[in-house]
Amino acid sequence: MSTNDPTQTPKRFHVKSFGCQMNVYDSERMGDLLSAEGMTAADSPDDADVVVLNTCHIREKAAEKLYSDIGRLRQPRADGSRPTIVAAGCVAQAEGAEIAVRAPAVDVIVGPLAYHRLPQLLEQARQQRAIDIDMPPVPKFDALPARKVTQASAFLTVQEGCDKFCTFCVVPYTRGPETSRPAADLLREAEGLVARGVKEITLLGQNVNAYHGGLNLAGLIRELAAIDGLARIRYTTSHPRDMDDDLIRAHAEVDKLMPYLHLPVQAGSSRILKAMNRAHTRESYLASLAQLRAARPDIALSGDFIVGFPGETEADFEETLTIVREVRYAAAFSFKYSVRPGTPAATMADQVPEDVKDERLQRLQAVIAEESLAFNRSTIGRRCTVLLERPGRKPGQLIGKTPWLQSAIVSLPGAKIGDLVEVDIVGAMPNSVETVPVSTREGTAA
Ligand code: SAM
Ligand code: SF4
Repeated sequence: MSTNDPTQTPKRFHVKSFGCQMNVYDSERMGDLLSAEGMTAADSPDDADVVVLNTCHIREKAAEKLYSDIGRLRQPRADGSRPTIVAAGCVAQAEGAEIAVRAPAVDVIVGPLAYHRLPQLLEQARQQRAIDIDMPPVPKFDALPARKVTQASAFLTVQEGCDKFCTFCVVPYTRGPETSRPAADLLREAEGLVARGVKEITLLGQNVNAYHGGLNLAGLIRELAAIDGLARIRYTTSHPRDMDDDLIRAHAEVDKLMPYLHLPVQAGSSRILKAMNRAHTRESYLASLAQLRAARPDIALSGDFIVGFPGETEADFEETLTIVREVRYAAAFSFKYSVRPGTPAATMADQVPEDVKDERLQRLQAVIAEESLAFNRSTIGRRCTVLLERPGRKPGQLIGKTPWLQSAIVSLPGAKIGDLVEVDIVGAMPNSVETVPVSTREGTAA
């Protein structure tokens, strides 16, 4: 233990998330665990006795951020103390031994499948550094305390791990093989969330549509939709190969399932998709989207893209630009290919130079930005509900999400976080839409 007095029990914790939504979910659950131990959350790492750095290993920079944070945290504070430092998440899983050597100040190293043991590891760390990067057979979810969420919208991890082995990706190595949580456990957790005031649940998984916990994902969504008080259901991230007919039908039939789908294609060239081991082609991907749009014509689509995968030519890259235009994405995330040691693509010939990756990323992001703005503009004139999630920048403003996951600015006296407000979309910006509440427009009470 590295706080001033090793006999003192730590009282305040801070968990910092570096990664995807699943990483955010894990951070929240670690917070629940530490709260159950009698600790309280601190807003800043400077006020905490225990700082958990919940890392992401997807791209190289993510690991570097861990080391720079450790460097800051290990500096003694004004009173000579420093917090207990926990390295958690996928970097801890993949590079636990390296962290132990490179960053001796770290007190606990814990992987994403073992963090339910965090309280015991903190106890052990009072004597010596504690490491747990097992992939235990007993799922951590059974060992976690009840959730304490207070937000209007909450994540629910339903599936973890991945067996797909895309040649660029570390997830199968850091999160282990694909496993699904039993549907009954998830329905219980969801009911608990709704009882705490949650209105929207986003089902999470590295391959969420490969879910098979007694029901398939469509079946789970239908069961969740029967929970009174739950207004909205979303899910992410899906793999194009697992977009089956039942799930597409659910988009047509389940009103609570929001008309938004994050379905990463990664690249527009079927040749590159094959080298990525994606198990879908440009054509099969577009065919799935056509089916989805037939089932739910207003569905908004988003995706992930990697530019500069080994061997990507200018012609391949242009196919990525054309697929963005063809799909008319509402939003998309784009990344430069990052070499991940131990993955097949790391040793492929024809690695693309950094300056070419930079230039392609800029061109791709410009096209994505145009398409996002075009999507937002296309929604002007629509009437929809917005789930209010947080305060806006100006007094009286609240920010929420439309069904199409656009950030919406709402000004409605008396409205509060957690309310579902009916609005008309009246303006579009690149990353948000402007709205007028229907009750204001029609002069009725809120
Ligand atoms: N399972 C999801 C799928 O198949 O699309 C993706 C999950 S992954 C955590 C999130 C995104 O990170 C991927 O969609 C991909 O675009 C990006 N990514 C993964 N490995 C990468 C790498 N080595 N370099 C750059 N981006 C990467
Ligand atoms: Fe990574 Fe591919 Fe699995 Fe997605 S499907 S998590 S990109 S290996």
